[in-house]
Amino acid sequence: MNSLEVTRLAYAYPDGTQALFGVDFAIRRGERVALLGPNGAGKTTLVMHLNGILTAGHGSVSVAGTPVRKDTLKEIRQRVGLVFQDPDDQLFMPTVRDDVAFGPANSGVAGEELERAVKGALERVGMLEVIDRPPHHLSFGQRRRVAVATVLAMEPEILVLDEPSSNLDPAARRELAEVLRSLDVTVLMVTHDLPYALELCERSLILSDGVIVADGPTRELLADS
Ligand code: ADP
Ligand code: ADP
Repeated sequence: MNSLEVTRLAYAYPDGTQALFGVDFAIRRGERVALLGPNGAGKTTLVMHLNGILTAGHGSVSVAGTPVRKDTLKEIRQRVGLVFQDPDDQLFMPTVRDDVAFGPANSGVAGEELERAVKGALERVGMLEVIDRPPHHLSFGQRRRVAVATVLAMEPEILVLDEPSSNLDPAARRELAEVLRSLDVTVLMVTHDLPYALELCERSLILSDGVIVADGPTRELLADS
C-alpha cells in the first residue's frame, strides 16, 4: 500500500514560472523519506500539492489511493498532516490541550474520545506534561513537538514536515529525532539538514529545477553529492 503517489506532476504559477516538470514518485506506508534540493527547486510547490493548497497542476497526487481534488479536500487534509517550519503558525489557542484538540474537534470528535486523542498525540511527542500550559510559555523545541502533536491528533496517513530541525539547539534536535523515529507513520521531510536526513530517512528524493534528479538510499545519494 502506498501512502502517497505523485504521477507526472507539472505546475506553472500564474506568472508563467514553471516550478515542476513531470514529477513521479511513490512513498510506501511506513517509509521515512527526505525531500532535498536547493532553494527554488520546487519543494514548497510540491508540498502545496500534497494537501491541495495547489490543485491546478497537470498529473495527479493521491494519498492512500484517494486523489487530491477539490471534491476530496476535506478527507485529504485529514490524511496529510503538514507541520510548518514555524510552529507559531500552527499554535494559536490559549493552551496546548486546545491546540491539539482543534483539528479532531473540527472533524466532530468530542468528549472522552477527544481527550484520548489529545493525550495520545501529546504522549507520542513526549509533551503530555505541558497539556495545560499556554504554547507561548514553551521553548521553541517544545512548540515544534506540540505542532507535530496537533497534526498527529488527526491520525494522518502521512506526516509532512518542513525543515523540522531548523532553529533547534542540539538537545531539542536530538529529542525531535527520537520522536520522529518512534512514530509508526509515513514521513516526508523537506530539509537542508543532510545529517538529519541521513539519521532519520532511509530514502531521499533530490529535487532540482522542478525535476527529481535522484531517488534512492540517503547514504548512497549523500556519498555521491
Ligand atoms: P523551494 O521550496 O524548493 O525553494 P519553490 O517551490 O518555492 O522552491 O519554488 C519553485 C520555483 O517556483 C522557483 O523558481 C520560485 O521562484 C517559483 N515560485 C514559487 N512561488 C511562486 C509564485 N507564487 N509565483 C511565481 N513563481 C513562484
Ligand atoms: P522556502 O524557504 O520554503 O523554500 P521560499 O523562500 O522559496 O520558501 O518562498 C517563500 C514564499 O514566497 C512562498 O509562499 C513562495 O510561494 C513565494 N515565492 C517564492 N518565489 C516566488 C516568486 N518568484 N514569485 C512570487 N512568490 C514567490
